[in-house]
Amino acid sequence: MSDPTRQGCARCHRRGWGFWSPIFHTVAGHTWRDADICVFCFGELGDEKWIVWTEGLKIMPMSMKEQREGVERGNP
Ligand SMILES: [Zn+2]
Repeated sequence: MSDPTRQGCARCHRRGWGFWSPIFHTVAGHTWRDADICVFCFGELGDEKWIVWTEGLKIMPMSMKEQREGVERGNP
């Protein structure tokens, strides 16, 4: 199902879970540091670079319902 308000991952185009990491730039590297990537790709990149990418990782899943309601409130 296509939903233009829901951001897909720049690397694998999967949609969904936001996350935050204190070492994002290190793990993402030059190629992906400014891109919007998903937590799954983040983990793959971290493994490729042999980094403990779970360090300080916060995962913020968002349901379609929450996001839709956020958009309707004008608060995406
Ligand atoms: Zn991805």
